Amino acid sequence: MKIESRLAQIGSQNEPVTGAVSFPIYQATAFRHPRLGESTGFDYARTKSPTRSVLEDAAAQLESGDAGFACSTGMAALQTIFAMFRSGDHLIVSLDLYGGTYRLIERILSKFGVTASYVDTNDIDAMSQLCTPNTKAVLIETPTNPLMMITDIERVCAWAKAKGLLTIVDNTLLTPYFQRPIELGADIVVHSATKYLGGHNDVLAGLIVTKGKELSEEMAFYHNSLGAVLGAQDSWLLMRGMKTLALRMERHQENATAVANWLLDHEAIEEVYYPALPNHPGHDVQNRQSSGNTGIFSFRVKDARYVEPILRHIKLIAFAESLGGVESLMTYPAVQTHADIPEDIRRQIGVDDRLLRFSVGIEHADDIIADLGQALEAAKSEISELR
Ligand SMILES: *Cc1c(COP(=O)(O)O)cnc(C)c1O
Repeated sequence: MKIESRLAQIGSQNEPVTGAVSFPIYQATAFRHPRLGESTGFDYARTKSPTRSVLEDAAAQLESGDAGFACSTGMAALQTIFAMFRSGDHLIVSLDLYGGTYRLIERILSKFGVTASYVDTNDIDAMSQLCTPNTKAVLIETPTNPLMMITDIERVCAWAKAKGLLTIVDNTLLTPYFQRPIELGADIVVHSATKYLGGHNDVLAGLIVTKGKELSEEMAFYHNSLGAVLGAQDSWLLMRGMKTLALRMERHQENATAVANWLLDHEAIEEVYYPALPNHPGHDVQNRQSSGNTGIFSFRVKDARYVEPILRHIKLIAFAESLGGVESLMTYPAVQTHADIPEDIRRQIGVDDRLLRFSVGIEHADDIIADLGQALEAAKSEISELR
């Protein structure tokens, strides 16, 4: 069945007793045992719970993996994955990494003796040089956020496999609707389901999908032992969001493409970073490994003095962190999402005081462009008054 149909039908065929088309919220932590040594398959909800199970099975299937694990947030999902590593282990990680993942590695994982090297994951030579006998895994984001750098997933997976390393892909920005890393050779896919999968800026959640029996059993152990699992109500809310993922991703892509193209010609804009644009360095790889583009992009204004008035004058577009919801949000990475990344790394990847990140919603593109246009005009006149 095509992915659109599988998404729309999440949980709709799983309730045999009443035939409920929307899978119920099982708000229970304990389950009766029929007798000693027997179980309904559910014992205690941290280990396994009915509503969460339907979501987890759907996630595994959508990502072409063997098992899914729903966690309380994207960070909880990453923390659960990182429980695989032990003191002395080393990771190779995308340079332009989500700020929270960088903080988790550098401020918490480091306390347990796990280290990481940050590198452009298109540079296989650099990765080979960083690889030591202690290196255990490669963690990539593609596209990265906010610079939208693209990594060739298949190439990295092949390299990692030859070195005996696991490949972990954060697929938050494209979702399985547009990109399925396990089909390209990845071992583990992780999501902040708070973003496109949930899609409505109203639920925090994380998902892990593993490939292979051994890895899936290992992850089930960490998921249950750490306990950062997703509750029944939020599992339901996430499934409800995922049912419309296909429609939303198409509209996000369409709107982001229209807005990015409009910005490209604006006199106040120096650069637009969006892989759908033909001059983007990752354009060809992105087209090869994904069937579409995310709804977020970043742009650099020519003068840093534009930033404050733009964020003050946008009305339809909210000045807010996060991404991937139906509402348009704009953020300022240097002081918000990426504040925990040291200045030298930020400068190296290009997160400076002129960069804005735009999560384009599913409103009408004309309204989004009109709002951005009036904010840019207002900013321009304030700056010229200062001169
Ligand atoms: C938001 C995000 C995370 C963290 O997810 P939370 O749900 O906020 O904990 C991880 N990776 C990426 C790429 C993200 O955008």
